[in-house]
Amino acid sequence: NEGVAVVPDVASLPGVVQIIRVSKPYRLAALESTGGKPSVIPVGEALVGSNNSWFVAGPCSVDDPARLIDIAHTVKALGAQALRGGAFKPRSNPYAFQGHGVEGLEMLARAREATGLPIVTEAMDIEQVDAVEEYADVIQIGARNMQNYQLLKRVGRSKRTVLLKRGLSATLDELLNAVEYVLAEGNCHVILCERGIRTFANHARFTLDVAAIPVLKALTHLPIIVDPSHPAGVRPLVLPLAQAGLAAGADGLIVEVHPEPEHALSDADQALRYPDIAQLADRGRRIAEAIGRTFGRPPAT
Ligand code: PEP
Ligand code: MN
Repeated sequence: NEGVAVVPDVASLPGVVQIIRVSKPYRLAALESTGGKPSVIPVGEALVGSNNSWFVAGPCSVDDPARLIDIAHTVKALGAQALRGGAFKPRSNPYAFQGHGVEGLEMLARAREATGLPIVTEAMDIEQVDAVEEYADVIQIGARNMQNYQLLKRVGRSKRTVLLKRGLSATLDELLNAVEYVLAEGNCHVILCERGIRTFANHARFTLDVAAIPVLKALTHLPIIVDPSHPAGVRPLVLPLAQAGLAAGADGLIVEVHPEPEHALSDADQALRYPDIAQLADRGRRIAEAIGRTFGRPPAT
């Protein structure tokens, strides 16, 4: 039992009700820290980590205000419980579209006003967090920033929920140590996301690590959702990966959608069109039902 050294008679000290032995270096993220109880994180009306699997959808990057509102209405009608969309975009190439910045955040705020959907959007560095937390309900920390410790500490002091994506080549141990930075600053509203890792396999953009879901559930109390879009890289792979994630017990899906992918400013090839996301919503509900859960908002009656 490495980790916390417990003085033998600590149990007899006044005010000590319970001693929780935590053997992991990520003591707040460890499942033991809650006595084995999963954490449930409220986002709007959704309870992430409950029996209801969370459904988040939206464009990779926010482009046009009217189109964003159309996407928001469409995914909401299909049962989505939050709208995703990047205003600050981490791009592998410095000449690629970098996002509309604060203007994009304003478009997201208008889409929330129009639909009531909470907003999930990324902050790429410390300087962006002030603006992002003003507009967002959930601050996304992207895969490339999973070990940006200054950024993790900053969002750890935020009042907003944090969605932490697993790094491209991060072990689960590294992911849990990273999330510990957020928790250690006092923010316990955190959701993890498996979004695919780098392997020798080059038949998909990344390899969705399905086993990470049940393994993380045994290691941490935090909810873990799946992003099937980025490991897919192309549209036809998104649905099967989404299905696999839900079937493996993911606490939600975050999916990229665009009505006209040919006009999308980033990740066009993996954007689901409206009929595709409708099919995903339907499959998601049926898979969830098969494993005793629900997926997304119940359809309007
Ligand atoms: C995204 O969500 O659009 C994104 C860039 O994700 P990731 O950080 O997982 O690559
Ligand atoms: Mn993307």
